[in-house]
Amino acid sequence: AKRIVIKVGTSTLTHSTGKLNLLRIEKLARELSDLANQGKQILLVSSGAVGAGMDRLGLKEKPKTIPEKQAAAAVGQGILLHIYEKMFGEYGQIVAQVLLTRADSVNRKRYTNSRNTLMALLNQGVIPIINENDAVAIDELKIGDNDTLSAMVASIIDADLLIILSDIEGVYTANPQTDPSATLLSEITDITPAVEELAGGPGTARGTGGMYTKIQAAKIAVNSGVTMVIASGGREGAVREIVQGKNVGTIFISK
Ligand code: ADP
Repeated sequence: AKRIVIKVGTSTLTHSTGKLNLLRIEKLARELSDLANQGKQILLVSSGAVGAGMDRLGLKEKPKTIPEKQAAAAVGQGILLHIYEKMFGEYGQIVAQVLLTRADSVNRKRYTNSRNTLMALLNQGVIPIINENDAVAIDELKIGDNDTLSAMVASIIDADLLIILSDIEGVYTANPQTDPSATLLSEITDITPAVEELAGGPGTARGTGGMYTKIQAAKIAVNSGVTMVIASGGREGAVREIVQGKNVGTIFISK
């Protein structure tokens, strides 16, 4: 794999206190910088802006109104980028902030423009750090979750691989939080309605999409010729091992 999109969820980036998990972010920055040093083109889709903003603003609960949530996102996005800039910078790696909205993937002119910008960044060895433009995106016109956003990005730039890092090893035969007998599926070749059934609703309190949006993302990825892997963000070296072709998490192979 040459061009790789990595998505990290809130549950990977934050502690249960809601504060950013700096050690996790630091290890991710090191691992991705190392791949870039090996000639890989890396794009990072990162959640965590609303959480970082809530923390800075001293909010204990998720804001209830849309403007308040968007305000938290606006505060948090800057904090998040500052941390990435600092940590990737330690390894001599240049990052860029790219905030997208749904229109950037459906409107042909905007699609081409997003693609061109991302390609220009990759050609200069820059790691784009991508998020939905939560501060201004209107609810009805939103992509809504970063699993879907990461699959759209992978499709826009013809990625070879999409890696979604979550708080769980991969897709299980049922939600392991409610069914202790659930087992890990290491490969999914066909996204049948039965597979979609496995996902259930959103998982953790801090995460948003649960397994459902990840399987929807897999559909987009596989249909665009992108192989996708879901793995645990807590597992050290997961990204490196996946890129080496090791059997980690759940793989959806594109046909
Ligand atoms: P993230 O913040 O990484 O996107 P989420 O909390 O949104 O993470 O999604 C992961 C969660 O989805 C898991 O922790 C689990 O509780 C839930 N889940 C539901 N069904 C399944 C399943 N079949 N296999 C694995 N996880 C599942």
